[in-house]
Amino acid sequence: MPELPEVETVRRGLEAHVVGRTIDQAEVRHPRAVRRHLAGPDDFAAVLRGRTVTGARRRGKYLWLPLGDDALLAHLGMSGQLLVGDPQRPVSSHVRARFTFTDGGPDLRFSDQRTFGHLVWSAGGAVLPGLIAHIAPDPLEAAFDLAALTQRIRARRTGIKRALLDQSLVSGIGNIYADEALWRARLHWARPTETLTRRQIAALFTGVHEVFAEALRAGGTSFDSLYVNVDGESGYFDRALAVYGRAGEPCPRCGAPVRRDPFMNRSSYSCPVCQPRPRRGRW
Ligand SMILES: [Zn+2]
Repeated sequence: MPELPEVETVRRGLEAHVVGRTIDQAEVRHPRAVRRHLAGPDDFAAVLRGRTVTGARRRGKYLWLPLGDDALLAHLGMSGQLLVGDPQRPVSSHVRARFTFTDGGPDLRFSDQRTFGHLVWSAGGAVLPGLIAHIAPDPLEAAFDLAALTQRIRARRTGIKRALLDQSLVSGIGNIYADEALWRARLHWARPTETLTRRQIAALFTGVHEVFAEALRAGGTSFDSLYVNVDGESGYFDRALAVYGRAGEPCPRCGAPVRRDPFMNRSSYSCPVCQPRPRRGRW
């Protein structure tokens, strides 16, 4: 599943290749891609025709293209990709929607093999689409306020990893980056939030910023100039991971074998030495 750094890489690509251009035709090739657009695929195509893309923005894993005061909002789901390329190239069967531009240049394709992603029109949504207004700022946004977030985290009665994944507190941190940031901050994932110091929470978000920055550097070099891509399977950031998906392998800091615990129907990876289990954890 694409995480925040991959989505930010896509946003940068869209900013470079789509902003300033006017949509000629919007073609919905699979109705499921626009299932959140309640007026239906024909209406979706009609409202987008002739609109000029004025920006490329992101909050957490949501992307949107402001079109004047309105916006086209995208969520990539498990397997979504936004591809910019030669409009004459063959259209794969996974392409769910396609946008051509009045300049006849590269087109934009929404490809989504597993169809969990979606596109939706957001009237008046240029600054922040109403559908995602309940989602908290992510750590890369200017609106991100660490002091206020620290207070809210310490006021919760939960485990720190559950807090990191809670989109009403902070958005864009998925399972992989939560485990990596906790390892950097030497915190066990079940640590009760009320026992964390301000300094520990600051260290945790320093870790979040570091892993995001490393993944962005890796992602920024992985696509060529006309190919905006996100691919949850290829995982160009895998090389940099210290603990995630590495059960039994040595911790890069101390050499102890990385442990895997079940967590919310998924897994948590941590170092048993660097990240000791709390006496009273919140699992
Ligand atoms: Zn260790």
